[in-house]
Amino acid sequence: MLDIAAIRTQFPILGREIYGKPLIYLDNAATSQHPQCVIERIADSYCRVNANVHRGVHTLSQEATNAHENARKRVQRFINARHSHEIIFTRGTTEAINLVAHSFGEAFLHDGDEVIVTTMEHHSNIVPWQLLQSRKDIKLRVIPINERGELDMEVFRNLFTERTRLVSVMHASNVLGTINPIEEIIACAHAHGVPVLIDGAQGVPHLAVDVQRLDADFYVFSAHKVYGPTGIGVLYGKEKWLDAMPPYQGGGEMIAQVSFERTTFNELPYKFEAGTPDYVGTAAFATALDWIEATGFEAMKAHEDDLLQYATQRLYEIDGMRILGTADHKTPVISFLVDNIHHYDMGMLLDKLGIAVRTGHHCAQPLMHTLGIEGTVRASFAVYNTREEIDAFVAAVNRVSNMLR
Ligand code: PMP
Repeated sequence: MLDIAAIRTQFPILGREIYGKPLIYLDNAATSQHPQCVIERIADSYCRVNANVHRGVHTLSQEATNAHENARKRVQRFINARHSHEIIFTRGTTEAINLVAHSFGEAFLHDGDEVIVTTMEHHSNIVPWQLLQSRKDIKLRVIPINERGELDMEVFRNLFTERTRLVSVMHASNVLGTINPIEEIIACAHAHGVPVLIDGAQGVPHLAVDVQRLDADFYVFSAHKVYGPTGIGVLYGKEKWLDAMPPYQGGGEMIAQVSFERTTFNELPYKFEAGTPDYVGTAAFATALDWIEATGFEAMKAHEDDLLQYATQRLYEIDGMRILGTADHKTPVISFLVDNIHHYDMGMLLDKLGIAVRTGHHCAQPLMHTLGIEGTVRASFAVYNTREEIDAFVAAVNRVSNMLR
């Protein structure tokens, strides 16, 4: 059992008041808050260590380089990648998917080829493929969902054609909370000789990920959703794919030799890391992963599962409550609507009561279209949330609903 009260004291922001009420932060699927150790690591990097990484012979540069490269090994261990050079640092999930769409797309996708995605994808796993469509005549094939918000695996198995070149699907939905059967998806795609990209932005915070056991070809996620800093993301890719893909951006770091006649590229991972990396961010990200490990990932998950069950059951006590996404396996994310109350009104009034939830389409407009709605109110939980906060949240939703009805 975790001591949640003790964990909360490590998060300075949780001491804030909003409109004179204690902050109840239920927007963790958008970004999680930071423990003191992560904040201190950022300050410490700037106070004691700061210097540009790689190639510097002076002490500060070597220390900064070590911190950055140790962070890469820390991420490697977190998701059990075979090699540390299979970990590419990006600005986030979005940049990681754009990198693959651009670079894998350049090398492996041709006119007439097909990429399989799902109805529930975040825009960041839709639009990069559409940008590629301006250069190549590729098609998106879409796996539909059932009324519970689960993928229709029967349809998925029949979407493969001889032109399928990639399956690109989310591990878990940021709207519905659905945990997709990615083991089955990967096995099925591989049986057709097709590689798979997993958007793990909502997977990594709540599910233990072992990329070798999964046999994922690409797995991408953002540090800021796992208690780490903003502006850092990870592209894990199997060496064989990354080696065969051309660079994404050009500049410093990513080259071996440059002349005006001919440039050769650096080895992995640097081939994909043009320019000065966010080495302060990567070091703090490693601290966040250490913090998760020290706190206990499985215990965190058990607590979050408890919050999900409790909040679901309590929300259904409210008249007119409709929860979107009722899959058996969910991350601690609840999207809901009450009667015909607008999600935006609900979110605004909850804020006045100190409660932070997200409202809108959650960067998943095709999913909203499928559900026949414009948006939802979304509450999402992290390890520092409590049953008492959920009680206050449910009481607030009830109060706001009665006001607006
Ligand atoms: N995919 C999913 C499933 C997400 O939830 C998010 C963040 N909302 C993203 C991609 C994009 O992540 P980022 O903004 O950190 O690049």
